[in-house]
Amino acid sequence: MQYKSTRNSNLRFTAAEVIAKGISEEGGLFVPTSFPALKPEFHTLCKMSYQQLASRIFSCYLTDFTQEEIDACVAKAYTSEKFEGDAPVTLQEAGGRYFLELWHGPTCAFKDMALQILPHLLTASLEKTAGGKTAYILTATSGDTGKAALDGFKDVKGTRISVLYPHAGVSQMQQRQMDTQEGENVSVCAVKGNFDDTQTGVKQIFTDPALKKLAQENDVLFSSANSINIGRLLPQIVYYFYAYFRLYESGAIADLEAPVNIAVPTGNFGNILAGYYASRMGLPVNKFVCASNANHVLTDFINTGKYDKKREFYITASPSMDILVSSNLERLLYHLCGEDCETLSGWMHALQTGGEYQVDADTARAVSVLFYGGCCTDEETGAVIAALFDKAHYLCDTHTAVAQGVYDKYFAETGDNTPAILVSTASPYKFADHVLTALGETPRGDAFDMVNRLEEISGIPAQKQLKDLKKKKTRFSQVITKEEMPGYVAQHIKDWQG
Ligand SMILES: *Cc1c(COP(=O)(O)O)cnc(C)c1O
Repeated sequence: MQYKSTRNSNLRFTAAEVIAKGISEEGGLFVPTSFPALKPEFHTLCKMSYQQLASRIFSCYLTDFTQEEIDACVAKAYTSEKFEGDAPVTLQEAGGRYFLELWHGPTCAFKDMALQILPHLLTASLEKTAGGKTAYILTATSGDTGKAALDGFKDVKGTRISVLYPHAGVSQMQQRQMDTQEGENVSVCAVKGNFDDTQTGVKQIFTDPALKKLAQENDVLFSSANSINIGRLLPQIVYYFYAYFRLYESGAIADLEAPVNIAVPTGNFGNILAGYYASRMGLPVNKFVCASNANHVLTDFINTGKYDKKREFYITASPSMDILVSSNLERLLYHLCGEDCETLSGWMHALQTGGEYQVDADTARAVSVLFYGGCCTDEETGAVIAALFDKAHYLCDTHTAVAQGVYDKYFAETGDNTPAILVSTASPYKFADHVLTALGETPRGDAFDMVNRLEEISGIPAQKQLKDLKKKKTRFSQVITKEEMPGYVAQHIKDWQG
């Protein structure tokens, strides 16, 4: 399999190259040049374990890896110590819908599915392309990504990671998760200011000439665990097939031709795009339901063909979806506009300079045939959580509730009875304050008090890894200014090499 950039189709790259690079030089995103057809293998694939299925799917895309290398990456990532239960993901029926729970990993959010394996794919890729240099991962985070990246890269040979987060910009639980992070190759630091300050600081480090030189002298390569890396996208294809085969196994669909609908709570468009890639590989999907919160730029785009980021930004009860530029949409549009780099580059340029673009009628139609876009307010989201708990005794988090809420709207409009997979992206205990409020409680005390209270009223056990954080030792408490960030990074490079 070869890869090309969405903004320049002339060049070809191997999987190891695109995983090591992350983003293409001219700003485009890497995409596969074709989609392997899995349909003929469905009867074999549906009997496979999650790990076997992951290995098979990776072998289609990572053709410059040996099967042994792929199997080793999979075996290190999806262990029963890291993911509770028999398989890394589960499908739970509640209220007539199927919830694909992707949050049974170490940090209780779906980003574990990709970030537990990315470090292994990255080190293998660097061995092939960069002579085994040390990868120094720098991540600015406003929430779930930082912790999931720390946990994924923890003690992975050949990698170092620093996570920087805005001092007053993450939840108490998220801060605890990061400040107590174990591992010899990790560091965490708070930065005075907001998320934008931190993110801009990290971007400047990547292009700082003095730091580049220092890195080079010490055989270090800067890298990011960003969600536009294809190494984060590929692992997300696996669970769509896995969920479909579980539906077949349980008798919810009669055969391996039967279509399903898939609803995804969407932010950067990575998760739902992986579902689209699965459909290109033969998964029978009737409709993708793209669910947004009050930041409904994607809803408007799907309904009108016009992407317009010039609007107010809201902080909502589903913060991991608070986003106005969904980077991975670029990949979808590339595939749907006939893989025309010039047209696509024009849209992306218009977004950068004028804050908006309008796609042509054919592309807009192609989007709306495949995708239904909808959104929920925080109030609607809370009502969904309460209704699901009251009627089906199923507790879901705010992001998952947005998917359910939007699916309800889709169903009310269409009456479409196709079996529906709703992607569940976080443990309800990760957002216990909002879930308690939805259930009519007034949240009191600290994050752990809220977890305990939610456990008490729901009778559903909280994840041990969240409760255990209370007892864990704080390892990191440094707070720096944005101006001190380059010095912080330089010091780490020197310390690690010495
Ligand atoms: C990141 C995240 C999302 C959004 O996923 P995208 O791939 O960015 O669309 C949804 N829910 C949770 C809990 C997340 O952490």
